[in-house]
Amino acid sequence: MRYISTRGAAPAAQFSDVLLGGLMSDGGLAIPESYPQLSATQLAQWRTLSYRELALEIMRLYADDIADAELRRIIDATYTAAVFRSDDITPVRQLQPGVHILGLSNGPTLAFKDVAMQLLGALFEQALARERRELNILGATSGDTGSAAEYAMRGRRGVRVFMLSPHRRMSAFQTAQMFSLQDPNIYNIAIRGVFDDCQDIVKAVSNDLAFKTRHHIGTVNSINWARIVAQVVYYFKGYFAVTQSNEQQVSFAVPTGNFGNICAGHIARSMGLPIRNLILATNENNVLDEFFRSGVYRVRPSNQVHQTSSPSMDISKASNFERFVYDLTGRNAAQVRELFHQVERTGQFDLTRTPHHARLAQFGFVSGASSHADRLETIRRVYRDSGQMVDTHTADGIKVGLEHQEAGVPLVCLETALPAKFSETIREALGRDPEIPKGLENLEHLPQRYTVLDADVAAVKDFITGNS
Ligand SMILES: *Cc1c(COP(=O)(O)O)cnc(C)c1O
Repeated sequence: MRYISTRGAAPAAQFSDVLLGGLMSDGGLAIPESYPQLSATQLAQWRTLSYRELALEIMRLYADDIADAELRRIIDATYTAAVFRSDDITPVRQLQPGVHILGLSNGPTLAFKDVAMQLLGALFEQALARERRELNILGATSGDTGSAAEYAMRGRRGVRVFMLSPHRRMSAFQTAQMFSLQDPNIYNIAIRGVFDDCQDIVKAVSNDLAFKTRHHIGTVNSINWARIVAQVVYYFKGYFAVTQSNEQQVSFAVPTGNFGNICAGHIARSMGLPIRNLILATNENNVLDEFFRSGVYRVRPSNQVHQTSSPSMDISKASNFERFVYDLTGRNAAQVRELFHQVERTGQFDLTRTPHHARLAQFGFVSGASSHADRLETIRRVYRDSGQMVDTHTADGIKVGLEHQEAGVPLVCLETALPAKFSETIREALGRDPEIPKGLENLEHLPQRYTVLDADVAAVKDFITGNS
């Protein structure tokens, strides 16, 4: 499998090359030269596979420069009942007839990012050992991504994590999740400031190329290709769980921020999985809903990003969207380059009155947006009708998914977090606390390990130098 850039001007690479990298050298994103096409026989054989077996079949298509036995070892060590609280890894449950929840949030940080990030941790460790390299991951978080990265990298050889978060501004649960980690390779840095200060520091350190090289600084951001491909697996798993034959079609409702999760759905569909619709749900930050309705992609300045009760979808632009646009333009890298240069210059591009817009319908995307009031209403209705609690992001997906439900087509709503992470909104909706998963009841009382620093680039650099 060769990987090329969506902007067409970077040398082709292997999986192992794109694994540890960020953007391609021309500023584009890594994408396979073509998607493997599944035969009916293959799809029939995959129906009965376990999560681990299915993950191996899919990963070996995309990571063909890792030996099969090695890949199997990594997958078997990652997708265990001990880590994901069930041997199904991503269990499906029914919400109402024809509507199902695909449980993606049973990993250590109770959000779907664990599914990909846990595998990434194991892949990183293996790649760094092979290349005799070290990596210091530097990141900024206001919650989900940072904790998923820390739980994926804790205790791994060759990797340290330096995670910046705004001091005293995360929820008690999220703070406890991260700060209770005692692993010596995890460094929580609480910055006296807001999330933007943390992000600015990460940018400033990353822009100091000499420092970056000397200290082997890297990131685990949402454009990482290995994260996308790891997420392809559960679309297959979810499809098989709610169908009896591969003649049937299924629609998936996906709470969307940076377009990573739903991009994996698009790839599963492109490989031949019989997906009818990919139902894209946004919150008040509706840049992608607007695109799929109108053909205009208009990113928001950061002062126009709403802070919502589904905070992991609060985005100004969708970092993985370029991968889809590449396919939408018929894999025309020159066009993609032009379109995203236009975004940098003017903040938008407009595909109406282009052949690309006419083709959009072939890709099976529909979309909608959800508000705080919708979220509360959905959480209440689901609880009343099924006795199940869903988190705020999942509620956005259910709300928009039901708007697009079609008779005879099973609807699978992706559960991207557990309600325990967002107890404030659950209390607002239901007047009671969410259930805390077994083993985590005491989390907020565990000893915490973190360092408080001023919002000062030099202070953070000194800290990294002193600890790496
Ligand atoms: C990250 C996240 C999302 C958005 O996923 P993308 O891949 O960025 O579209 C949705 N819900 C939760 C809970 C998340 O953590």
